[in-house]
Amino acid sequence: MLTTEKKEFWFVVGSQHLYGGKALAEVKAHAQTITDALNESGILPYPLVLQDLAVSADKITSIMKEVNYRNEVAGVITWMHTFSPAKMWIRGTKLLQKPLLHLATQFNESIPWATIDMDFMNLNQSAHGDREYGFINARLKKQNKVVVGYWERPEVRQQIAQWMDVAVAYNESFNIKVARFGDNMRNVGVTEGDKVEAQIQFGWTVDYFGIGDLVQYINEVTDEEIDALFAEYEGQYEFFYGTYSREDWEKSVKVQASYEIAIKRFLDDGGYTAFTTNFEDLYGMKQLPGLAVQRLMAQGYGFAGEGDWKTAALDRLLKVMSHNQSTGFMEDYTYELAAGQESILQSHMLEVDPSLASNKPKIVVSPLGIGDREDPARLVFDGKAGDGVVVSMADFGTNYKLLINEVSAFEPTVPAPNLPVARVLWEVKPNFQDGVKAWLENGGGHHTVVSLNLTTDQIITYAKLVGLEYVVIK
Ligand code: MN
Repeated sequence: MLTTEKKEFWFVVGSQHLYGGKALAEVKAHAQTITDALNESGILPYPLVLQDLAVSADKITSIMKEVNYRNEVAGVITWMHTFSPAKMWIRGTKLLQKPLLHLATQFNESIPWATIDMDFMNLNQSAHGDREYGFINARLKKQNKVVVGYWERPEVRQQIAQWMDVAVAYNESFNIKVARFGDNMRNVGVTEGDKVEAQIQFGWTVDYFGIGDLVQYINEVTDEEIDALFAEYEGQYEFFYGTYSREDWEKSVKVQASYEIAIKRFLDDGGYTAFTTNFEDLYGMKQLPGLAVQRLMAQGYGFAGEGDWKTAALDRLLKVMSHNQSTGFMEDYTYELAAGQESILQSHMLEVDPSLASNKPKIVVSPLGIGDREDPARLVFDGKAGDGVVVSMADFGTNYKLLINEVSAFEPTVPAPNLPVARVLWEVKPNFQDGVKAWLENGGGHHTVVSLNLTTDQIITYAKLVGLEYVVIK
């Protein structure tokens, strides 16, 4: 996938000088054991790096300043081995500008009743230290994550892993640059938004380009480059000629290959990791980019149609969070209302993300009713099954609002021979009537990002980090 730079997390262990050098050496050894075990578990997506013990205000402040300064450090995990007076944490915690996870764990799993004495209890008092530290984070309104449980448990490690993915996405949020090829689709409401506010709140840079800027890149793509990419398609997809001659079909597909090369080059030259197109704005282009867009989504670029830069940026954000697994731009189309089977058909006019495919996609060329251009090629497939979340972001004039609905996707069983686009089907929670009603009452859009890899909790964790209002429907 389109990568971000290498990331790591810092592990900061709280204690104090009161207990003497021997005790602190033991604290450090325990911290090293936990660090090594977490790193070797294979569960954490990013490495954890143990820092000097947090035993004074100066030490804590200098660690947190360093975290802010270093691009490779995505966040901090703290653990209170002993009692670490919270006033020592105020300055550093206030300065910290990256995600914080308080791991409420303890080195020993059980209380050793046969041997426990005052020395042992003074050294192993996470319950005491957790409360002192939790108080100051709450008072500072830190919006930190708290994970509770024994550090050897897989479910505890899983929670840390999921938070790490959110933290890296939060860091990446400030690097997201969206290239808009053309403006928003005329007359549409939900795709609009305040770009200055989006940059202040989420860090997103949103730049407009006239379609001619892209056409110039397309014109510079060589036949050799197109043939090489077309050969790549042959290995990855089924070729479906339909009613077209092989020659006409190939000609159409190669137009998309030239778009893929040109758009990728344009984005990479400008440092853009997301983009939008608009079928109303294609002057100088033969087709609406379809297959080209789908291939770029599969590589990790964020995308949304009709100039919807909010959803394109959100798509990129959630692709980073999910490691680009089963996550993509989506649009609500058609209800299934038969009793007991209520669900919603999801698709787009062309651009459905192949990271959601359950079967080998086929390349299909078919006319497009709108846009007034040549028949574009696109990948057609059925969406995979799984539980996940669908997210939409709307500008309500005074604030942005995120809608989160839990969904259960399922594979379609009935063929749709006349449908020339990919299809994804899902049921909404808690049930069709209440789920759809809540979505509509809260003003949720028709452009969304769906992920069968992420959890509601992860989306909420991000929303809290950026102070974004959210509504959960589950
Ligand atoms: Mn759309």
